[in-house]
Amino acid sequence: MSINRREWLARLAAGGAGLLLPARRTAEAPRPVPQAAPAPAPAPEACPLALKDFQPRSMLHVAEHKVERARFPVIDIHTHLGWSKGEEVSFLATPAQILPVMDRKNIRTMVNLTGGSGVGLLQSIRTFEGAAPGRFVTFTEPSWHRVAQPGYPQWQADEMERAKKAGAKGLKVLKTLGLFLREGGTTGPLVKIDDPRFDPMWDACGRLGLPVAIHVSDPEAFFTPIDRFNERYDELGNHPDWSFYDRDFPSNAELLAARNRMFARHPGTQFIVLHVGNNAENLAFVSENLDRFPKTVVELGARIGELGRQPRTARRFIEKYQDRVLFGTDAVPPPDGDKYPQQVFKDELYEIYYRFLETEDEYFDYAPAVVPPQGRWRIYGLGLPEAVLKKVYHDNAARILGLTS
Ligand SMILES: [Zn+2]
Repeated sequence: MSINRREWLARLAAGGAGLLLPARRTAEAPRPVPQAAPAPAPAPEACPLALKDFQPRSMLHVAEHKVERARFPVIDIHTHLGWSKGEEVSFLATPAQILPVMDRKNIRTMVNLTGGSGVGLLQSIRTFEGAAPGRFVTFTEPSWHRVAQPGYPQWQADEMERAKKAGAKGLKVLKTLGLFLREGGTTGPLVKIDDPRFDPMWDACGRLGLPVAIHVSDPEAFFTPIDRFNERYDELGNHPDWSFYDRDFPSNAELLAARNRMFARHPGTQFIVLHVGNNAENLAFVSENLDRFPKTVVELGARIGELGRQPRTARRFIEKYQDRVLFGTDAVPPPDGDKYPQQVFKDELYEIYYRFLETEDEYFDYAPAVVPPQGRWRIYGLGLPEAVLKKVYHDNAARILGLTS
């Protein structure tokens, strides 16, 4: 005699784990109990699964659009083609390695923010701009190693003029200021972002028309314990030195408040506030700051993972501030860039940014990596209108850099 599906399920529920118990007797004749093999015990090494081994594949069947070229020419305002130390620069790639990717991805201009200072700056300009005029723009950097020297504030301001004459198109300030730079270089108390010694430098940039690309603070999760509640647990596990929790670091809010006090003192200086105003998790706060400091603009680099998991808020934000959002990736050429897949300079990185900005695709990776490197989530495309895309990709940056093409 056979049993129907409902009975079968009822017996499963009563017996748990796939073992069948005798059925409740009915008025009819007793029924035979089907035999089922016990479920195999899980292999001990497979249970529990380590977080690093968990790589779920989405079973969604949704539209996928590969965007190989941006719909409009692009200026990538945030890249690192070299690193500097003192006046020395070391390059991460040659123009011959960079240009083919630019051509394939419709990138008209790359802005190398870490162009260094002094002779290093000259070398950066010669290496990239010399090789392909019009395709590269170079920013200079402050000489942090001189901060404790007498006369530094005026010297640094004068240096901005020299950098401009050498061909620099702006100044880049890394998160060094606020999180690493100390009175004694690497020892002593941290130097504050609104330290008055930098006032002449910020003023000089305003006077000379040099925009300042500034990175202050870091994602909020970097300021909280590395524990099971931390949404960037994997990332901080891979880069424990990115944690600013505890020790003598200021909080994220204190760093942003110091930055804002400095902005308020220099209303004539053009600040490009990198990484979506350094607070992509909180677009209401970024909006308030854009309203409060009308000359500032923001840039998208390494934060599409934040924007893409709040696509409706992000789209409203970009549409509202469409003249003040600049395309940037924070790209770092491999092999250095391989350590941070959300920033690795290659075709795939740009295709993800373009897909995010241009399509309404759902639930896709924000970085070319097996495990989402910043946090275990995926993103949704914004499908920006063409007029907004054109401004974000190119026109806003061209205006701020004073480029004619
Ligand atoms: Zn950067």
